[in-house]
Amino acid sequence: MDNSAAPELTIVRYGHPALREKAQPIGRVTRDVKELVTVMAQVMRTARGLGLAANQVGIARRVALVEIDEKLTPLIDPELVSAAGAETTDEGCLSLPRLYGNVPRPTRVVVRARNLSGRRVTLEAEGLLARAICHEIDHLNGVLFIDHLSSIRRKLLSAKLKKIAEKRS
Ligand SMILES: [Zn+2]
Repeated sequence: MDNSAAPELTIVRYGHPALREKAQPIGRVTRDVKELVTVMAQVMRTARGLGLAANQVGIARRVALVEIDEKLTPLIDPELVSAAGAETTDEGCLSLPRLYGNVPRPTRVVVRARNLSGRRVTLEAEGLLARAICHEIDHLNGVLFIDHLSSIRRKLLSAKLKKIAEKRS
């Protein structure tokens, strides 16, 4: 990234190699990182998503966002510290359009991440926010929600997955 006009980012779909990459740590929160967060937030809102990881715009760095109830939570170098509870419910992903599956997730999580000032912060989340954070941290590790589905369910979705992969941008 350079400092000229905001880079144009588009969401990549299932089948794109960036979605399977383990994203690299950010370390120092530079102006470029802040700009990436700003642009990713725009991309996420345009796509009407609750969250977006940098892998999903083809950048394998540990930056993700979650926005629930109009509250934007940037996750820079996030690490799951602890998780409790379990709930299985339908989940979707901007990189897997029109595809949903029942995914078990913890109901409460504690996460350490850097904020936009570069400081390490601890976040506690529950319910949908906890679910969304787990989904995004998965992305940064090259994991997709379909990986949590049963092999039978994945098999049933295989034709749809193939179609998404063929149309990938
Ligand atoms: Zn996703």
